[in-house]
Amino acid sequence: MQQFIDKYDFAGKKAIVRVDFNVPLDENFNITDDTRIRAAIPTLKKVLAGGGSLIIMSHLGRPKGVTDKFSLKHIVDHVSMCLGVLVQFAPDYQKADAQVAALKPGEALLLENLRFYAEEEGKPRGLAEDASDEEKKAAKAAVKESQKAFVAKLASYADCYINDAFGTAHRAHASTALIAKFFPDDKMFGYLMEGEIKAIDNVLKNAKRPFTAIIGGSKVSSKLAVLENLLTKVDNLIIGGGMGYTFIKAEGGRIGNSLHEDELIPQAQEILAKAKERGVNISLSVQTRVANEFSNDSATQLVPSHEIPEGWEGMDAGPESLEIWKKIILSSKTILWNGPVGVFEMPSFAKGTLQIAQDLAEATAAGAYTLVGGGDSVAAVTQMGFADKVSYVSTGGGAMLEAIEGKELPGIAAIRE
Ligand code: AMP
Repeated sequence: MQQFIDKYDFAGKKAIVRVDFNVPLDENFNITDDTRIRAAIPTLKKVLAGGGSLIIMSHLGRPKGVTDKFSLKHIVDHVSMCLGVLVQFAPDYQKADAQVAALKPGEALLLENLRFYAEEEGKPRGLAEDASDEEKKAAKAAVKESQKAFVAKLASYADCYINDAFGTAHRAHASTALIAKFFPDDKMFGYLMEGEIKAIDNVLKNAKRPFTAIIGGSKVSSKLAVLENLLTKVDNLIIGGGMGYTFIKAEGGRIGNSLHEDELIPQAQEILAKAKERGVNISLSVQTRVANEFSNDSATQLVPSHEIPEGWEGMDAGPESLEIWKKIILSSKTILWNGPVGVFEMPSFAKGTLQIAQDLAEATAAGAYTLVGGGDSVAAVTQMGFADKVSYVSTGGGAMLEAIEGKELPGIAAIRE
């Protein structure tokens, strides 16, 4: 049965906690952004304050085996500083028994990067490129078999399991999902996971209407499932950014050199038709800032989005689009935003995305629930200084996208089932 971190008695217990310490490091192994570490601290502190001890596990990067560059030893001092406790380090997860046994209440141990071992992801490694289907099947079966001992070993270290790694909640890995089975009565979400789950529920299950989703970014192909699921939930669907031009072309518009995916035009047409059937208002850009080359210093002009001249490409939403979108946003009670509405990395084409961030802040101040989640919109809202002016900024790019697609995330299901 699922437990709740606020009610659980950690006194004298060892808690094994999956966190997402997958932080960016520079070439000297300095952490360039410690947001993910800080996000897990409240959960870790709660265990220690309750008289428990911590076995912390995470991944870092995508190593294909033991690789010094991806060792968590590079971050252990910083974790100690954030937690306010000297965190010990276990370089080999299999040989940590003595270190775990010696842990006293209030103490913490960080295990080495779990992705050093193929068992964490349960995927075979080192297969020859020309391996036959038989060989692939056998290798998969072998890693699945050794994964059982891997998970059992990790579980043997603790009395309870906490998952606070939302960033990997969409993966059914050993430490994010499989380990939960060993703690049928002692498994729970950490505070970060609880916050993310509540934010998802606030938009997908308990949205106050009108509910508007703003979906931007570069490609329709990466967000087709998102759009399809949202169509069944929202009142308004604003489609902007590079992906908007496939829809504009699908409506018969001329889009010049703008980014688009011809092979997805039938699907775009289907989405437009389904929206009509369901009474969902799809709002595409009506005016676009175009450029004659993909560069910050290119010549630009404002043109109707359906009449982009040859040789020019859509780079940002124009003021007329933003005016329409602002009205929709400010009349909504729930707003979900994923993906920039222009090439916001170039200052000349960041105005549209900045305006959306401002509109969301204004809507939030007026009482709307606003969630920014999944990838680049999070970077945009943070860069632009609006992160604390919206209701919730998700920490999980891929995980949030899959949740918005309506998928059940294995990391969440494993605690709940
Ligand atoms: P995504 O990862 O799908 O959310 O896409 C984010 C990327 O979409 C950012 O790097 C933006 O620069 C890019 N993007 C947004 N609008 C456009 C556009 N009109 N043309 C090309 N790329 C765009």
